[in-house]
Amino acid sequence: MTFEALGLHASVLKALTESGYTTPTSVQAQAVPAAIAGRDLLVSSQTGSGKTAAFMLPALHKFALEGDLPQTEAGRTANQEAQSARSRGERPRFKAAQPKMLVLTPTRELALQVTTATDKYGSFMRRVKAVSILGGMPYPKQMQLLAKNPEILVATPGRLIDHMESGKIDFSQLEILVLDEADRMLDMGFIDDIEKIVAATPATRQTMLFSATLDGVVGNMAKRITKDPLVIQIAGSTNKHENIQQRVHFVDDLSHKNRLLDHILRDETMDQAVVFTATKRDADTIADRLNIAGFAAAALHGDMHQGARNRTLDGMRRGQVRVLVATDVAARGIDVPAITHVVNYDLPKFPEDYVHRIGRTGRAGRNGLAISLVNHAEGMNVKRIERFTKQLIPVDVIEGFEPKRTASAARPSHKPGGWKPGDNRGAPSKPGQRTFSKPGAAPRKEGSSFSKGPRTGDTGARRSFSDR
Ligand code: AMP
Repeated sequence: MTFEALGLHASVLKALTESGYTTPTSVQAQAVPAAIAGRDLLVSSQTGSGKTAAFMLPALHKFALEGDLPQTEAGRTANQEAQSARSRGERPRFKAAQPKMLVLTPTRELALQVTTATDKYGSFMRRVKAVSILGGMPYPKQMQLLAKNPEILVATPGRLIDHMESGKIDFSQLEILVLDEADRMLDMGFIDDIEKIVAATPATRQTMLFSATLDGVVGNMAKRITKDPLVIQIAGSTNKHENIQQRVHFVDDLSHKNRLLDHILRDETMDQAVVFTATKRDADTIADRLNIAGFAAAALHGDMHQGARNRTLDGMRRGQVRVLVATDVAARGIDVPAITHVVNYDLPKFPEDYVHRIGRTGRAGRNGLAISLVNHAEGMNVKRIERFTKQLIPVDVIEGFEPKRTASAARPSHKPGGWKPGDNRGAPSKPGQRTFSKPGAAPRKEGSSFSKGPRTGDTGARRSFSDR
C-alpha cells in the first residue's frame, strides 16, 4: 500500500515523501480513503499509530483541492477590505475567525503536536494555516493568531469556549471537526464544553472521532455527533504495545527505588527516558536529584508556564534533555522518537494512564522498554493494569538490587540477554550490569512473580490472565 494509492493530492504526497514516510500505517490506510470520500469516522487507536496523519492528510487533501479552485467572491472581498484598510493606515476591523477545520485535543502538548504535524504535512500547500488556541497562552497572542483567519484551529475545549462566547470565532464555515483522544477529554470533564462547541458547528460538517475506546460514554457521544460513521478498530500490536517490553521491579523503600532508578537510567541502551511521578512536587524533586547525580533531567508538569513546558519539550526533542520527569497530564501526547525508556516511578492512578504512559516509548514502530517500580503493597494495582491491558507484566530483578522482602523475587533472573532499542533478541550481559530481558526469552524458575506463593512457572507470561 502506498500513499499515492490512497488518492491524496500531489502537494500532500510531496510533504509525505519529504517527511520520509513511505507506507501508510494501518489506521491511515483505512481512514484516509473514507475521509476523502467525506465519511464520518469513529476510530479506536492509540497514539503512536499514526492517527494524526489519518485525520490531517484527508483534510489537507480537501483544502488543497479547494485551493486549486479560483478564490470565492466573499474571500476576495474580505481580503481586499483588509488590504485597503491597511493602506489607509487603519487597523482592519476585527472579524471573527472562520475556520474550516477544528481539532479538539485534551492537552496543550497534544494540540501543539497536531499543529506541528499539520505544518509538516501542509508544507507544500500555498495557503493553509494551522494555529493552536490553548489555555495558558497570552490572550493578545491568541487574538493575533485568530486575526489571521486560519483554516485550521487546534484547541483545547476550555479556552476555545472563551473565544466562542466572546464572538472571536464563528464556526458557520466549518467543514471538518476532529475529536482527538475523545475518551481523555471526557475523563477530564470536558463533556459540556464539547457539546457546546459541537452545537455551534454546522450539521453538514464531517466528524472524525479518535479514542482509545469507543465504549460507554464516548460511544454515546459518538453516536450523537456523527452520521453513519465508518468504525475503524485498530487492534493488535499498537493497542497492546507489543513492541514495548514491560517489566515490574519490586522495591523495599524510597532509597531502594532511587538507586534502582539511577541504575536503569545509566543503562547504555538508554537514549532518552520519561520518568512518571504521581505529583508535580515529586517531578520537581526527582528532576533536581537526577540533575545533581549528573543526568540531564528536566521536570514537566501542569504548574509550569506554557513557555517553560515548550522549552523543556524542545530540549527533549533536540536531545539536550535526556530524562524527562513528568506527571500524567503534562506528558500526554509527547512524541519524541528517541524515547527508549519509560519508568513509572509511581504507578498511575488509572490503568488507562499506564497505557498512555508506556506509549511514550516505542514510537513509530520502534522498540521500547517500560519499567514500573512498585512497592510491595501495590501488587493489586499491577493486577488492575494487567486486567485492563489483558497482558501480564513480568517481574524482573537486577543483581545487586534485589528487594529484601519478597523472597521469591529476591533472586536475580539468569537469562541470556539484555535488551536494546531496535533489538528484541537480547545479548549476553555481565552480572551486575544486566538490566532487561525479553519476556519469555529464557526459563525463569523463580523470582518473577509478585504473588506471595512460590512460583512454579516461568515469567508468568504464559499463565492465563484470569488466574492473577
Ligand atoms: P501519532 O500516532 O499521530 O502520534 O504518530 C506517531 C508517530 O508516527 C509520529 O512521530 C509520526 O510522525 C509518525 N508517523 C505517522 N505516520 C507515519 C508513517 N506512515 N510512516 C512513518 N512514520 C509515521
